[in-house]
Amino acid sequence: MEQRMTQAQRMTQAQRMLCQAQMLSMRLELVGAIHGHEKFRPQALCPKCNRSLTPAEILKGFVDDPNDLNTTCTRCGHRFPPKLVWQELVSAMEVPFFCASQSLARLRGKEVLDPDAFRREDPALYHSTIVHHGTLRNAFTSIGIIYGFPEVVDIEKKIRPFLGKLPDTMIAKIAGLRVSQVRGLRKKEHISPCTRRDILKAAKEAQDAETEEVASATAVANDTVAT
Ligand SMILES: [Zn+2]
Repeated sequence: MEQRMTQAQRMTQAQRMLCQAQMLSMRLELVGAIHGHEKFRPQALCPKCNRSLTPAEILKGFVDDPNDLNTTCTRCGHRFPPKLVWQELVSAMEVPFFCASQSLARLRGKEVLDPDAFRREDPALYHSTIVHHGTLRNAFTSIGIIYGFPEVVDIEKKIRPFLGKLPDTMIAKIAGLRVSQVRGLRKKEHISPCTRRDILKAAKEAQDAETEEVASATAVANDTVAT
């Protein structure tokens, strides 16, 4: 199987990192879409050397220890706790950001709370949990607890914009659906399966859009100066 991999399918290290970053940002968007119109941004500014870590670097810098809340600076190696900024319409809030296993380790006992109460009582745990595990139900299931509260409505409608932009397996995992369900929905919409090439293309488009934004902001600034 591996020998059949063509040159075009092999990616450079830089492309692989770009792909990972794009998938992570799409995954965060998907989680936000599933739970209402929220936006999530993991944030970590190294207090020692001032480097701002990317979301992918923040995740990579965690050690798999429920008692260690730090991520690792990619420049100086300093370890410090990152934050999760979540934005909803006009309000934004900043909470501590736990890693996937830290979230799971703190969940026990919270199964008696409905999603709204959970979110009010422990916003850091609530948001970290859905960022990593997609839904509370997914997270509880993985520690052997049945979470009985209804959590997400219209899930099929909510994942629709992400079909073909993320692998079916990832959408299924985040949304708590079977892969066959996601594949079925995608085929019904005549959307081709997501390939690495698609992800890379989307990553480059996102980069270009960012560059363009800066360019047009500069143009506006220049206009203002001219008039
Ligand atoms: Zn640093």
